[in-house]
Amino acid sequence: MTTVATLLAAARRSIPPSEARLLLGHLLGRNSAWLEAHRDDALEAAAAAQFSALVARRAAGEPVAYLTGRREFYGRDFAVTPDVLIPRPETELLVEIAVEKVGAGGTAHSARPSPALTGGETSCAQGAIRILDLGTGSGCLAITLALELPAAQVTAVEASPRALAVARANAERLGAKVAFVESDWFAALPPQTFDLIVANPPYVAANDPHLGQGDLRFEPADALTDHADGLTAIRRIVAAAPRWLAEGGWLFFEHGWDQADAARALLETAGFEAIEQARDLAGIVRMSGGRKPAARAPIALVPEANNQ
Ligand code: GLN
Repeated sequence: MTTVATLLAAARRSIPPSEARLLLGHLLGRNSAWLEAHRDDALEAAAAAQFSALVARRAAGEPVAYLTGRREFYGRDFAVTPDVLIPRPETELLVEIAVEKVGAGGTAHSARPSPALTGGETSCAQGAIRILDLGTGSGCLAITLALELPAAQVTAVEASPRALAVARANAERLGAKVAFVESDWFAALPPQTFDLIVANPPYVAANDPHLGQGDLRFEPADALTDHADGLTAIRRIVAAAPRWLAEGGWLFFEHGWDQADAARALLETAGFEAIEQARDLAGIVRMSGGRKPAARAPIALVPEANNQ
């Protein structure tokens, strides 16, 4: 007789036990606890055949997240398809940094009036915290920030229409209010300023052998690599971000294990201050960012105008 236990035991010959449980749970619409409690339940031959097919695909390299269509991020369940990067645990660190910077008790610029805004830009003097996620993919960063910071106004841009459809569906299912814009980084974004910009851009160098290994083989190449030295997107984002940040606004982005020095140098060149870098769980610097300085007070302008 085919039971939960015999199926899991057979799968373990080619894939890890945790993945076997995820795949069988997905197929049966049950969690691991249910599987454990029903180890001796008999299963239909059709379910057993479907499970073997999934196990074979996994053994051939397809990511578990694409086989189940799901991946947890920051405690929430996101739909994923091969059109989007699979959310990674280290990216949760960007959420923590963002919440620290603009959440309650943070130093959001929106608490202060901004003297430097000109026509066409949105004033942030009394408004909500405004957050931008660049290259949102599944939407995991933008949606998580919208749910963790309910008072924030979150905008997410994404160049791939297919990824954008996944992100929109995730936002709707998770009840997050996010303004989605199809845009190549800032290109199609209407003029405005943000208190915080976050990004998990494609930063893997074209010649990095990891692109040919594991899950990365099945993920959208444009979400992983710039097809060059790995820094093309980061350079573009860091150089353009000051124009899209309110004074005192923050930029934080994820990068590769060997890009910490380059990230810091780019931030310094672009005029960012209070540069911070954060380590992932493996102790490697993987997040960098800084603050856009407040403009120097325009000392000469106001009195002169009044005196004439
Ligand atoms: N963290 C991913 C990896 O190296 C890359 C994600 C990205 O390029 N943004 O597996």
